[in-house]
Amino acid sequence: MTIEGKEIAMELMGEKNNECDSRSEAFFSAVDSDYSMNDMTDDDDNEFHENVDDTAEWLGVDHHKTDVQNKTTEIEKDDSLVMPEDIDVAPDSESDFEIVHESYEEINRSENVVFNPKNMDNPQLKLQMLFSSIKECKLAVTNYSIRQGRPRKFVKQDRLRVRAKCRSEGCHWEIYARKLADEGSVQIKTFEETHTCGFTYDNPLVNSGWVGRKYAEEFRTNPKVNMEHFRKTVMRENKCSFSKKQTYRARHRALKIIHGSESDQYGKLGAYMNEIQKSNPGSSIILKTVDESTSTLTQQQRFQRLYVCFNGVKQEFLDGCRPLIGVDGTFLKGSVGGVLLIAVGFDANNSIYPVAYAIAEGENKESWAWFFKLLKEDLKIERDYELTIMSDKQKGLIQACDLVFPNAAHRFCVKHMHANFSSAGFKGEAIRKALWTAAKATTPAEFSSKMEEMAAIDINAAMWFDDKPPAQWSRAFFSTYPKCDILLNNLCECFNSKIVDAREKPIIEMMELLRLYLMQRMQ
Ligand SMILES: [Zn+2]
Repeated sequence: MTIEGKEIAMELMGEKNNECDSRSEAFFSAVDSDYSMNDMTDDDDNEFHENVDDTAEWLGVDHHKTDVQNKTTEIEKDDSLVMPEDIDVAPDSESDFEIVHESYEEINRSENVVFNPKNMDNPQLKLQMLFSSIKECKLAVTNYSIRQGRPRKFVKQDRLRVRAKCRSEGCHWEIYARKLADEGSVQIKTFEETHTCGFTYDNPLVNSGWVGRKYAEEFRTNPKVNMEHFRKTVMRENKCSFSKKQTYRARHRALKIIHGSESDQYGKLGAYMNEIQKSNPGSSIILKTVDESTSTLTQQQRFQRLYVCFNGVKQEFLDGCRPLIGVDGTFLKGSVGGVLLIAVGFDANNSIYPVAYAIAEGENKESWAWFFKLLKEDLKIERDYELTIMSDKQKGLIQACDLVFPNAAHRFCVKHMHANFSSAGFKGEAIRKALWTAAKATTPAEFSSKMEEMAAIDINAAMWFDDKPPAQWSRAFFSTYPKCDILLNNLCECFNSKIVDAREKPIIEMMELLRLYLMQRMQ
């Protein structure tokens, strides 16, 4: 647990005394499993959990209902049967809490107001108001208190009732609702609606979970919403402060609601792969998993990498593309991280031709070597000396390339090389020009003269290229097999720019967006 996580834990321990224990415990497990890796934890999550957790309600109320339905009924006129708040009730114990039996006919229905879920954004609460469930009632109370600018706290909550008080010390605002025995709906039994406290701008109830859920639909209609604009909207509409960090978390929550749990989609990968193979025979869609070494009881498989190369793409590449492949890795923006490795070729029109891609745990020698091996098989690369690989000199890529394609020519993107060159301290227009003219030189003699010009400007600049073979960056020395003098890895840049949206989607949606993009490209 991070230091921040510890602080949260301390806060939660404080909360724990007031709030339902099981909730806090459930939160702890959520911290460990879901969000700790991404630093997504704060008291937000506790509130989120409290408000949206489906498991918060017990389902076993029916047996009480049937037991008591035929017994004598009585109408509760006052709140005398309400539990004192300081007594903790075990979920299964009814010893100190007796369900009050109310006859449907005897309650004057006209005085009751049935809560309309359409008003959830701005609920008007009244004594005797009826809700369909405890969960609905709690959310209405939360939203009500947010509207009022006075945060509530649940001092008692179980499957049968809920009691909320104002968080301000000394304020007597209070609401109590409980399940009616004979119909299952939940009714407000006590409502002390006057606050003696003041409006607060820092409302802890307006957290990423609450905001994410409330604004999920807005993200569905406009996923590219400007985050600063969204943050201001949240603050204006809810009259509260809301940090930038919370805004991004809220967006994450909303997207999670929209796209379903990311982990759920990993579970469906097998079926998805079968479907691809069935509809597109001859395609390579290869999954690599790692064993959970910590668990000896269940050897659960864990996702590590996924490689995709469609049959049509493969065939076309073999039929008409030059033996030149640009490769690149780009970060995925989902909560599980990872990278997308891509291989892009050049078609006869000098347009980009995406060949294959893979999702991997990161850019390293192993992942690149795995990717290259599969690519080598798919593209039937036997004479690797004919192949040119273009890259930005990624981590592990060079070693992997040497391993799988030991005789292939390697080109480095001159734009990236220039960026490194600048970072090394060689700046200025003259030196930049010298580098580019050397890169564009078409004969070794021209290259030498350009390098001499560079040395005349700055001898150290020319020496910087000593460990960078000109065959990797100057046209004068390029391999002639690909019949291509490209200096930039903009094949990959271009492909990456087309798939920006896909990179933040859960895995199957990402795979589908990539597949659709490829389909459109091929048409
Ligand atoms: Zn108050």
